[in-house]
Amino acid sequence: MQMLNQINDIMIAPHFKLSEFACPCCHRVMLHPLLLEKLEKLRKKMERPIHITSGYRCFTYNQKVGGIANSYHCIGLAADIKVKDINLMELLNYAEGIDFNGIGFYEKKNFLHLDVRPTKRTRWRE
Ligand SMILES: [Zn+2]
Ligand SMILES: [Zn+2]
Repeated sequence: MQMLNQINDIMIAPHFKLSEFACPCCHRVMLHPLLLEKLEKLRKKMERPIHITSGYRCFTYNQKVGGIANSYHCIGLAADIKVKDINLMELLNYAEGIDFNGIGFYEKKNFLHLDVRPTKRTRWRE
């Protein structure tokens, strides 16, 4: 149904739609404005499209994908991203320039986890 296809089909920043952050299983979404602001800054700096591979996750979906129990994805503070034609190390350097409070470097799966957690600055590698 046309009406349902339009759910979350809303531009919320110059380069992002709300639907890109929605949970794939239920289309619900939570998104902190600071996360969006930083992602938009990153997008502008790189001049390349950012693919959000995982934004908001409801608790059911988070369990399904094996996310940690109190994942920042479940409260709208985190996004996993991929960017075409750029290596992960280069992407990490750009992300460090924006200073996300949490950055996870997932070498094998080839994505970055970025979050705006309110607690102290955290970096990890998998
Ligand atoms: Zn869901
Ligand atoms: Zn993540």
